[in-house]
Amino acid sequence: MSEIALRHPEKAHRPDNPAPPKPPWIRVKAPTSLAYRETRDLMRALKLNTVCEEAACPNIGQCWSERHATVMILGSVCTRACTFCNVATGRPDALDPHEPARVAEAVAKLGLNHIVVTSVDRDDLADGGASQFVHTILAIRASAPSTTIEVLTPDFLKKDGALEVVVAARPDVFNHNLETVPRLYGEVRPGARYFHSLRLLDRVKELDPSMFTKSGLMVGLGEEKAEVMQVMDDLRAARVDFLTIGQYLQPTSKHHRVDRFVTPDEFSSYRQIAYGKGFLMVASSPLTRSSYLAGEDFARLQAARAAQRAAAEN
Ligand code: SF4
Repeated sequence: MSEIALRHPEKAHRPDNPAPPKPPWIRVKAPTSLAYRETRDLMRALKLNTVCEEAACPNIGQCWSERHATVMILGSVCTRACTFCNVATGRPDALDPHEPARVAEAVAKLGLNHIVVTSVDRDDLADGGASQFVHTILAIRASAPSTTIEVLTPDFLKKDGALEVVVAARPDVFNHNLETVPRLYGEVRPGARYFHSLRLLDRVKELDPSMFTKSGLMVGLGEEKAEVMQVMDDLRAARVDFLTIGQYLQPTSKHHRVDRFVTPDEFSSYRQIAYGKGFLMVASSPLTRSSYLAGEDFARLQAARAAQRAAAEN
């Protein structure tokens, strides 16, 4: 059976969408460093999945060379079938009760200041996998108390109380990606609802106004600039602190096509517009991903909030 049929059975019979050639600003170096191999070997030894590998992230050479990996919990198989995503879809793995402890061990061994924990969608579980997030946060707090924790969660659609328990576990950053503009949800995130995702981010602030919230968009999927600006307004109305914007890259010819490559100047323009709309932090570049440089960005996010508070007091 082909790789596509194995990983993405629902996409195997779709017509091919050949990706256009990548422009020079997208090219990345092949990973070769010792630290890269050590990070990879640790993930293998602890049987952990990473979104770095599963999503075929272009930054893996750089991130893993800096021992920064984004762990993907709740197994390696997703119950949704988003058309942009390279994570395998199908019948999900049984929940592994030892996974949180292995994540905590990896965080301690890598000596991370900041860890991003994400997951596949688990619509099959009564709580959408929320309790596994909670156990993972608690395990990391116990093994590496000074490490800051960022969760990048699914939307927990139709899972009452799921969001609340994750927020109550007090991650330092709550990230949930909108991914694209509402007009494209039907073809890009068919299992998700734009206003549900937006409401989830707003609800985090309702539950804990001090928690940093973050969301990300991919561009190059066919969106218009005015639509991106409307999404920025919607995110600010939901009090989201940090916006990431990066170029969509097509994992295979069966995935959503790349409509175009957004230029570095356009990314700079989005960054300036987003800061103008009041985000505390904005990362916008072709290779920005929601977990890219997340540790450095978290430190800057804290500094930006402190500066904002100091300015308000004067
Ligand atoms: S940007 Fe995120 S997903 Fe990509 S390699 Fe870095 S940590 Fe992994």
